[in-house]
Amino acid sequence: MNLIDVTKKFGTAEAANDFLERMRWPEGVRCVKCDGTKVSKYVKQASTRMRFSAKTGYVEKPVPARILYVCRECKRQFSVTEGTIFNDTHLPLQKWFMATALMVNAKKGLSAKQMERDVEVTYKTAWYLCHRIREAMENENGVFGGTVEMDETFMGGRYDERRKRARYAKQPVMGVIQRGTEEEHSKVHAFPIPHVRREVIADVVKNYVAPEAQIYTDEGGGYRHLKDKHNHAIVIHSKGEYVRGEVHTNSIEGFWSLVKRQIIGQHHFVSVKHLQRYLNEVSFKFNNREAESLFLLVIIRLLIGSALKYKTLIATEAPQQRLLSIKDAAEEPF
Ligand SMILES: [Zn+2]
Repeated sequence: MNLIDVTKKFGTAEAANDFLERMRWPEGVRCVKCDGTKVSKYVKQASTRMRFSAKTGYVEKPVPARILYVCRECKRQFSVTEGTIFNDTHLPLQKWFMATALMVNAKKGLSAKQMERDVEVTYKTAWYLCHRIREAMENENGVFGGTVEMDETFMGGRYDERRKRARYAKQPVMGVIQRGTEEEHSKVHAFPIPHVRREVIADVVKNYVAPEAQIYTDEGGGYRHLKDKHNHAIVIHSKGEYVRGEVHTNSIEGFWSLVKRQIIGQHHFVSVKHLQRYLNEVSFKFNNREAESLFLLVIIRLLIGSALKYKTLIATEAPQQRLLSIKDAAEEPF
């Protein structure tokens, strides 16, 4: 679904509301408070309210018409976005949908600056939207089996006065790819790691690779112990060897060039704090490259994922990685 489709489909607030209603309550609207099913829907007409500002005193501000629901049991009034990420901003739903469509269709990524122009929001809002949508693209692939390639790359590394980071001190990023088979295309996990020594590699394998998998890597020292417990073979890059039959790391290296083209090409510099979200975006598009509707997948994740508040996003510590489990809604005719 591209921007034009979104504009056509969700041209009115009502259409956007109906869409989200079906996504959220596929078996009929339920009360957000008591979970009751006796719910009426109505339109609250546009009105005005008085707002105070020190400069101008009380001023009348317009409040646009809203679609609301009221529970006939507990009398609670609520909107379709209540308790969801869409409620955290005062943006109309259509703008969220537009932003999502732009993001999933941007082959080489999208800068907040471009989002600002295309969706007609402030830079701050555009930046928040970009990060929030990226967050919803979190990986949920679990453990890889069959043939698995592992490789690390280094990103960033701009000299940082305060952190005394040297130019060469780049952030290591680990990539684990499960090679494609006839039934399933290849899939990837990519995330920053503290270093590329043995303990970290062992942890990555424990968390992301099935014990019986065949693992291919280069000759890096951190991988050497893998053969003790796993089927492991290496290609010796330092001796100019890149492919020996099935033994190679070409799939993961292809993925790295995709990452670098997108992240460096579009964003020039990515801070380590936000790196995981950028990796999420590239991995999500890669892993779901045959999905019927990436747009729908992301909207559902935004809808059910717990809200990542603006303050978490700008906090010094990056939030812990969180895995969403989503209900597959591929049957929806969108
Ligand atoms: Zn109720």
